[in-house]
Amino acid sequence: MKEKVLIVEDERQIARFLQLEFEHEGYEVKIAYDGVSGLKEALEGDYDIVLLDVMLPVIDGYEVLEKIREKSDIPVIMLTAKDQVKDKVKGLDIGADDYVTKPFSIEELFARVRAALRKKNLPSKRGVLKFADVVIDFNTYEVRRQGIKIDLTKKEFDLLEFLMRNAGIALSRERILQAVWGYEYYGDTNVVDVYIRFLRSKIDDPFDKKLIHTIRGVGYILRVDGNED
Ligand code: CA
Repeated sequence: MKEKVLIVEDERQIARFLQLEFEHEGYEVKIAYDGVSGLKEALEGDYDIVLLDVMLPVIDGYEVLEKIREKSDIPVIMLTAKDQVKDKVKGLDIGADDYVTKPFSIEELFARVRAALRKKNLPSKRGVLKFADVVIDFNTYEVRRQGIKIDLTKKEFDLLEFLMRNAGIALSRERILQAVWGYEYYGDTNVVDVYIRFLRSKIDDPFDKKLIHTIRGVGYILRVDGNED
């Protein structure tokens, strides 16, 4: 099934370019040329993701985003000509999932769209995920090891889930960063080490057997035995 992209962009050339590129990539595309019709489409259509220009006639992209967020958690990527930190922060504060700064490369935009769609598809999972004596219950979002409940922050939870879904596989910091944080092109991989430390203090340190192992020069692996560390 094709994923549906709504492009809200008043510059017709850019809108057309994006439409052709996304259609070529296999998406179904609809364009709205101003904030009011963009908002209407976003709320009434069944889109998978919205690409939202900031500078729009009638109501601007920030206002559109605010109104979308009152009713919907559809992924939104802001297209901004402004390269100022405060503008990026403003978009993210209001609830944008990501942003790209014009001029952007189409490959970068594709990558960000894929990342946003992956994240969107995560929370709908239900049921239970097990590895060794660790259990994640997606009905309650509880984590237990040896039956003992472990309180994790959202990011620690996401990180543990990713490690468990890829148990036995060596995961680079970059790959973990992309999967859990969704940054495709930049971002400091130190954040991965910091969160692995947090997670170890809760998942590994209180218990006999370590599950999270460091692979020097690469990243991390979740497995039951191993001689690293
Ligand atoms: Ca514009």
